[in-house]
Amino acid sequence: MEKKMFDLGDIVQMKKQHPCGANEMEIIRMGMDIRIKCVKCKHSILLPRAKFEKSLKKVLRSGSDSGEAGAEESNA
Ligand SMILES: [Zn+2]
Repeated sequence: MEKKMFDLGDIVQMKKQHPCGANEMEIIRMGMDIRIKCVKCKHSILLPRAKFEKSLKKVLRSGSDSGEAGAEESNA
């Protein structure tokens, strides 16, 4: 099982898109549960970490990563 890397402020893509049509979520809370916010409709969802990791497709961009040079791109 591959471990996906994600962090607070990251924009992630989920396996299922949000009903509003967007498929970009921002991680706004990390802990036992992960809270993500839809970038389009601003609706936030709380998911248990295990469920979040299961529904995570990929990390689109890292919120904390300001430098572009040397940014890690993981090609799935
Ligand atoms: Zn939405």
